[in-house]
Amino acid sequence: MTDLLSLARESAVRFLLFSFTDLFGIQRAKLVPLAAVAGMSREGAGFAGFAAWLELSPADGDVMAIPDPRSFTPLPWQSDVAWVATELTLNGEPMEQCPRRVLQRQIQRSAALGYQLRSGVEAEFFLLDPSGDAVADRADTQEKPCYDQLALMRRYPLVSALMDGMEQLGWGPYQADHEDANGQFELNWTYADALTTADRHAFFKVMVKSLAEREGLRASFMPKPFQQLTGNGCHTHLSLWDQAGRNAFHDPAGDLGLSALAYHFLAGLLHHAPALACLTNPTVNSYRRLAAPPTASGSTWSPGGISYCGNNRTHMVRIPDDQRLELRLPDGAAHPYLLQAAVLAAGLDGIERQLDPGPRHDNDNYADPLPDGAFGRLPRDLGEALDAFAADQPLRSGLGEGFCVAYQQLRRRQWGRFRAQLTDWERQVGLEG
Ligand SMILES: [Mg+2]
Repeated sequence: MTDLLSLARESAVRFLLFSFTDLFGIQRAKLVPLAAVAGMSREGAGFAGFAAWLELSPADGDVMAIPDPRSFTPLPWQSDVAWVATELTLNGEPMEQCPRRVLQRQIQRSAALGYQLRSGVEAEFFLLDPSGDAVADRADTQEKPCYDQLALMRRYPLVSALMDGMEQLGWGPYQADHEDANGQFELNWTYADALTTADRHAFFKVMVKSLAEREGLRASFMPKPFQQLTGNGCHTHLSLWDQAGRNAFHDPAGDLGLSALAYHFLAGLLHHAPALACLTNPTVNSYRRLAAPPTASGSTWSPGGISYCGNNRTHMVRIPDDQRLELRLPDGAAHPYLLQAAVLAAGLDGIERQLDPGPRHDNDNYADPLPDGAFGRLPRDLGEALDAFAADQPLRSGLGEGFCVAYQQLRRRQWGRFRAQLTDWERQVGLEG
């Protein structure tokens, strides 16, 4: 493996951002000059864990962030700086709650079964005023704004810079469009192994936000920033590949061209959906996107229940073709590493226990929703998702109890802070009661 210092020298980089994504998905970094890179690559960059969203106390020692040279990514907009993903240790031991390690463990578990997850994400985002209060483009007002060519091209300076950046990094970008909400966009790049996709997803969010700031805009991946508009999804495309490099989800003889393995994986997603939501839909705001009333455009494009279908966008899992599954549950707040880890943990449990997904449903699940079925229903709020997560032992043991406890405690406290608020609405309604 090429070492970080050589990579930096080859790219004429002067500084490295030693970066990690904390449990709430916030990216933290230290800027390290080249002269210090060799030493810090061995020892790690030190962080006070309590100062980020990690489940630690101020009395704990330094968290050390050790870089993985495979994730070396020169910033397309700042050529003398490169980003690198790190993994966390505490007191010389790997930290169980480090999100990238949580994913690495699932990748190893999958490899032991002979499979590699390959995935792609559709990370939708809004372009807002710097205040975050309104869509930046005041002319972007169509009732059905999806694919609006003029609104897309008004953002050409930003969109083309993002596409050029992805091209330069070798991600294989292939399209960009205006999405279903006013001010909402999506850029797609080629799928890859789950760790590569997670690193790219983490970096993509930073790249979008950084380049948007340069244009005087604020980019947001928040699941539902506007009540009447479609929210930010993060649809995730999934397939398992065998050691010979064949797509093990594909089987011409199977239903819709998918293998028994794919259906077991799918069953794992359905079976664990209530607990999975705690990671794929991790914030208070996430539950304003799920099972929401129709938006101004006519559709939320988000699932209301736990079901799957063929090429139909009204269910939680879509089978778009004979190569893959599309999980439509995750939203823009999903953590790049924990999303991949959670999906893999759920799918692998489906394979290990040979779970059955039950029948496919090809109804319009918005116009004519299915009743709650064998897999129950999606959580209605973060509190319910936390309860489901606490109760799902197979998922927890797959992900690692140390991680699960840390994550759950942080989110429970956040849910408690939300619940403790007295809102303007209840005062307005309640004072006269
Ligand atoms: Mg989309």
